Amino acid sequence: MKITAIGALALAIASAVTGAVVLTGGLPHTARRSPAHGSAVSQGPAPSPGAPGIGDPLMPLSGNGGYTVRRYTLDFDWQAPRTPFAAAATVRATATQSLSRFDLDFAGNTLRTVTVDGAPATAVRDGDELVVTPPRPIPRGRAFTVHVTYTADPTQRRHRDDAIQDYGWMPTPDGTMVCAQPDGAKMIFPANDHPSLRAPVTFRITTPDGVSAVANGRLVGTERRPGRRVRWTYDSEEPIAGQLVQMAIGEFTFVEGTGPHGLPLRDVVPDGLVGGTEAYRSLTAQHLAWLERRLGPYPFRRYGVLVGDTDLPVALETQSLSVVPRDDLLGDRVDAERNLVHELAHHWTGDSVAIRRWSDLWLSEGHARFYERLYSAEHGGPDLEETMRAAYEQHDQWRHDDGAPAEPTAPTLFKVMRYDGSALVLFALREKVGEETFGRIERSWVTRYRGRAAGTPEFVALASRIAGEDLAPFLTPWLYGPHTPPMPGHPDWQADPVED
Ligand SMILES: [Zn+2]
Repeated sequence: MKITAIGALALAIASAVTGAVVLTGGLPHTARRSPAHGSAVSQGPAPSPGAPGIGDPLMPLSGNGGYTVRRYTLDFDWQAPRTPFAAAATVRATATQSLSRFDLDFAGNTLRTVTVDGAPATAVRDGDELVVTPPRPIPRGRAFTVHVTYTADPTQRRHRDDAIQDYGWMPTPDGTMVCAQPDGAKMIFPANDHPSLRAPVTFRITTPDGVSAVANGRLVGTERRPGRRVRWTYDSEEPIAGQLVQMAIGEFTFVEGTGPHGLPLRDVVPDGLVGGTEAYRSLTAQHLAWLERRLGPYPFRRYGVLVGDTDLPVALETQSLSVVPRDDLLGDRVDAERNLVHELAHHWTGDSVAIRRWSDLWLSEGHARFYERLYSAEHGGPDLEETMRAAYEQHDQWRHDDGAPAEPTAPTLFKVMRYDGSALVLFALREKVGEETFGRIERSWVTRYRGRAAGTPEFVALASRIAGEDLAPFLTPWLYGPHTPPMPGHPDWQADPVED
């Protein structure tokens, strides 16, 4: 992809007005941003800077151009919930163009050193971009390794006025967890931080004796370290997008179990919350079986619930280990199951099938909310049709306030239109094509795009192919524009008038 005009301009302005901090192998220098056009390069196009973003209109600087990440290896020398600690990220990448310099997304924390293939590199922090100029240009196709050391601050978080609320590092009473969605992975480690960009991650987390660490995927092993410390190594097993990374530290009990087809289950629970949360956590195998009947096999190698010991009332589909807050698991059963099923459903839509651009978010959240509502209706919650009718009544207002389902703006991204408003689009599609065809569309969607990124045009095309009719004329007004179309089969449903 290419640099957007807005991204380039914003970067140029930002670099002109900020006194950027520059490090060369750890030593401060004056900012120098001119690309290194080395005369020694004899073949191919002249080296040029990698783009600072992948051109997503809603978050133009998310992700980076000019290289593909092959693996992140993250080292965290964790100390205490609110104590900064030494961290390092090793990014193995392959250049997709001849690079004079390239960016990583990186925010907060304190930068220490940056090397490329072991040699000190010039590194400039420019807003949330870390601009790295290697000593020599990197030829196209060449593998290279970036090593970044920094001091991580596990108290840093940001806020959004939507369903995300706080994101970034999350201190707990005895540890740390992370909620990186939407673009907070860069607050945890230097990353290619866009939901469509994935790479495997190795986590090496060192903790004091008696404190446990967990991360996405498989525990590779633990190792004693000097000073009564323990190093925990995890492997994500599958490529993972930055926003779905989880690493948590605390006084945990690991509760192991088995799901359908022998799927390994592993809940991670603060010691004092094991008994109190057991009743709802133990429903996971049942939730998996219910979702598998609709969407086919669970797409990862293990699953579990991390009980979030925090007041933040937000659950998150961190890959293979969803965060569900403590209070959700100690309250009403219908509400608890809605959240548990929502985060689990995301593992098919959002985690396995990633969104291509942020404006495709309705596909991730709409599906999760749709299956959450469907499950709830079958298990003691409100009737599906009543829920959808209520959403229909508010749909014009949500279009006005939040943008149409596939037309979010950056500030309205995680507003209700992407949840109940987008579940309503899927309900409309089901009413239009019938339950049987809808089921085939859904299974085909998560099968065809398993482990890949896909967007709204791909969904409309696939639905049309499975249904045997062009559904663009039906879905386009549902997804775009200011007015909610009639609901098939429910001519009496009316949207309430819009209030400014
Ligand atoms: Zn969700």
